[in-house]
Amino acid sequence: MGSTTNQTFDEFLSTTRTISDLTAASSVLGWDQETYMPDGAAEERAEQIATLNALIHQMMTSDKAGKLVEELVSNGSAADLSEWQIAALREFSREREQAVKLPDEFVREMSKVTSLAQQSWKKARSKSDFSIFRDNLAKIIDIKRRHAQYLGYKENPYDALIDLYEPGMKVEQLRPVFERLQEGTARLLDKIDQSGADISDAVLFTDFDPSAQLSFAREVIKKLGFNFTDGRVDLSTHPFCASFGIRDVRLTTRVYRDDLRSCLFGLIHEAGHGMYEQGIDKAYSRTPLADGTSMGIHESQSLFWENMVGRSLEFWKWAYPSLQSQFPERLSDISADSFFRIVNVMKSSMIRVEADELTYNLHIILRFEIEDDLINGRMNVDDIPEAWNTKMEEYLGITPANDAEGCLQDVHWSFGGHGYFPSYSLGKLYAAMFYQAMLKDLPEHHKQIERGEFGDLLSWLREKVHRWGKAKSPAELTNEICGEPLSEGAFLTYIEKKINQVYYNQT
Ligand code: ZN
Repeated sequence: MGSTTNQTFDEFLSTTRTISDLTAASSVLGWDQETYMPDGAAEERAEQIATLNALIHQMMTSDKAGKLVEELVSNGSAADLSEWQIAALREFSREREQAVKLPDEFVREMSKVTSLAQQSWKKARSKSDFSIFRDNLAKIIDIKRRHAQYLGYKENPYDALIDLYEPGMKVEQLRPVFERLQEGTARLLDKIDQSGADISDAVLFTDFDPSAQLSFAREVIKKLGFNFTDGRVDLSTHPFCASFGIRDVRLTTRVYRDDLRSCLFGLIHEAGHGMYEQGIDKAYSRTPLADGTSMGIHESQSLFWENMVGRSLEFWKWAYPSLQSQFPERLSDISADSFFRIVNVMKSSMIRVEADELTYNLHIILRFEIEDDLINGRMNVDDIPEAWNTKMEEYLGITPANDAEGCLQDVHWSFGGHGYFPSYSLGKLYAAMFYQAMLKDLPEHHKQIERGEFGDLLSWLREKVHRWGKAKSPAELTNEICGEPLSEGAFLTYIEKKINQVYYNQT
């Protein structure tokens, strides 16, 4: 490449490195806040994080960054750049454009309104009283509608908000996929009903020593391939994965004595996110490419390990003897085969985060439809509780007894995360599509899982998904790996096979 371009790109890279370092520092503070920080530090910590985030915003939107991008793009010198450099430039420009479009006072207003709303949401949920949250939510909906206007869109303002989490995804593309997914799910729920099988998972909610649970879960993710030299595991109220760099990935989990699922599946899930981060090409370190390409693709990686692997019969044939030896008094009478069925019980329930693989998507479709109506002004804030309950009855056949287990259950709306929910179902659909493609390349993978060998699986994901970081968009990845755009077919095929195993004893 030309030496001027070379110099300009180096300057560009040095700017993005500073931004990446500040972002990592902010994440360390955020991680610490959720894990080890004493309660008394809360106020000072909020200021520290706000200061760093303001610095990041200033650098992103600075004229200097703008000129560097312009120089690299507009004078044609981009032709001299390599593929990854062009991708880094594209990613940075995309994020910069989104930041530049928002006036400073709007960003401040949004931050103030959402921080107040989170407090009122907590109170409203604990008292199960929507009226406590009502005014704050009305303000947030108004802010999100303005947010969409600032960002711009072609057909639907909700597209602009979805794009923040899933670049390029649109309501027009999602709606028919979700409609078919909903129809397929209803058919499969009938099929489960008709099996007449009644599998009790009550044993999972008895009594399991927390430290034994944690050490078992740690051993499992080590076997799966999470790298403890470049990562670690701590405890927090809500499990998450934070990355301060490709070689520093932090997972958290929680342990409930009376719920065997939470720690194990939670940690496998977070390790899936973590292995994605650890698998990004090291050359992308401290550049705009050193991150997962979208929320949906990120979620596909966690769900791939949690569900396709961690909830498979083969996995439990391998892992069960060890779990059983940890908890002989609870599990000695239960076989690996039965345990596989127990962790795959599928039935309608009120709370999204506790839902099974199949009915989970119905919770998302409900939120997607309500958000679309709210952002388009077709629904008023006061209509939310009733709309929620009506849809729960219609889609899942159950009605929340109160708003705490209805429209107040999720934190997302209180922080203005409208547009986020679809990512969860996208993750399920992408994971199943990738799984289908993987089956062709690794026909022996079942036997490998049964032997506790996960290396080929991880290498496949590394090669196809992880190493690219943000260098490929979600649509590019799906097309290249699966040869087709997003669809619900692979998921429905995958889950029907599991239903046949769990409810019809087919192997
Ligand atoms: Zn996740």
